[in-house]
Amino acid sequence: MKLRESISFRILILCGVAAFLSVYIMSSVILNRIETATHLAKQTELQAAASEYATSLSVYGLDAEITLPDTYAGINRRLIITDSSLRIVFDSSDIENHEGKIIYLPAVVTALRGDEFFEFSSSNLRLESSAAAPVVSDGKIIGAVCIFETDVSLQNIYKALLPALLISGIVTILLFLTLGAAFVFFLLRRISNLIKTVKETQGDEKIEKIPVNYNDEVAPIIREFNNIYERLDYVQQMRQAFVSDASHELRTPLAAIRLLCESITQTDDVDTETIREFMEDIILEVDRMSHTAEKLLVLSRLDNGNRKGHAPVSLSETVYKMINAFEPIAADKDVTIESYIEDDCIIPGETEGANQIVGNLIDNAIKYNNVGGTLRIYLFSKNGKCTFITDDTGIGIAPEYREQVFERFYRVDKSREHDGRGGSGLGLAIVKRNVEHFGGTIRISDSVTGGTRFTVVLPSLQTEEEHSI
Ligand code: ADP
Repeated sequence: MKLRESISFRILILCGVAAFLSVYIMSSVILNRIETATHLAKQTELQAAASEYATSLSVYGLDAEITLPDTYAGINRRLIITDSSLRIVFDSSDIENHEGKIIYLPAVVTALRGDEFFEFSSSNLRLESSAAAPVVSDGKIIGAVCIFETDVSLQNIYKALLPALLISGIVTILLFLTLGAAFVFFLLRRISNLIKTVKETQGDEKIEKIPVNYNDEVAPIIREFNNIYERLDYVQQMRQAFVSDASHELRTPLAAIRLLCESITQTDDVDTETIREFMEDIILEVDRMSHTAEKLLVLSRLDNGNRKGHAPVSLSETVYKMINAFEPIAADKDVTIESYIEDDCIIPGETEGANQIVGNLIDNAIKYNNVGGTLRIYLFSKNGKCTFITDDTGIGIAPEYREQVFERFYRVDKSREHDGRGGSGLGLAIVKRNVEHFGGTIRISDSVTGGTRFTVVLPSLQTEEEHSI
């Protein structure tokens, strides 16, 4: 795994960036607050000082002796007094003294107009402020007092604070990184435990669920794993059951074939008639095996799930077609088929699946009917559903078997397996899967005639129509 693809690495980088940003924002906010507070203090102080000078000059005149403004470390103040014609009559600066010169600055102009003036600016913690006030005598503006101040004391404070800011910044970054590392460590431990448990269970025959000890962010992953395990376990059990059932189903006819062949080969002077009879039995067994193999293939296709999408299928046509196909078989057994079919039952599905549903149910209703019995077939639309019913006068299915008959290879009466009346035990499993695939339901109930009634309800493409039987 590349370092930049690792989640731990990304989390640590994020923690580092978060720590740096929080330190940066914190120190900027502190300095900004200090600057704002200083601005207000300067305004009050410088304006008061300018007014004080202006008041004493208005009493004693512009050439009165004045006390120079205090200068502190880092603060440099300059006092300028002008007369009403902008000429400087006093300049406290020794370095750049402009006495006698004309000064045209906003501060002076504003004061000579009779207003107080204050201006503040800061750049790189160097604060520049200026304040001015008019000197008024006998109601006339005779001059202006201006104070200019440069304050770099904040820079000194910042310099003094810098080591503390740096240390607290480094400590914060380290703290964030430690917390991030602890988080990564905990998360990785949970994930590596999960991987370890998954690896351990892989070799086991029986898949065990992983215990969910904490209800944290990893818990949903464990639950999903457990769901997959459950499904895998179910599939594994189904596969085992299927393999054992399928081998049992094929072993029985194979054993019968072997027995028939042995009887022929081990008996001397077998006449042609007996051989023919034995051969007919062998063909019957081979037919049974191909029938089972065919149904197994159908089931496997249904289980694989790679089925065609739904298209409109006329269930009415399917039922008519199947009744015609099974008529000779019913006649052989003297079973009368009575049908009550609506012509416009259209379902969303596929023809093959519809044939399997209708065909298997009609086949069973004839197969498990009594000789001379009746099979009633109903098909109608109601409440946006298509209902298909087979109602026979046969042997019936006891309520305790009505769930199991849908399992593959399940037969209620095992003794009929090879008496020519039994089938593969796969027909109803195929029916159920198709019904579920079409979004419908299937139910077994007693027929009023004492036989069995199968009711299949499927979603319909038809508008509602009321019908009752
Ligand atoms: P089979 O190929 O054995 O008919 P099915 O899956 O179609 O397999 O049916 C499973 C079992 O359900 C049958 O062996 C039979 O015992 C019972 N069964 C199905 N349909 C009927 C019916 N109409 N009347 C009585 N029993 C039935």
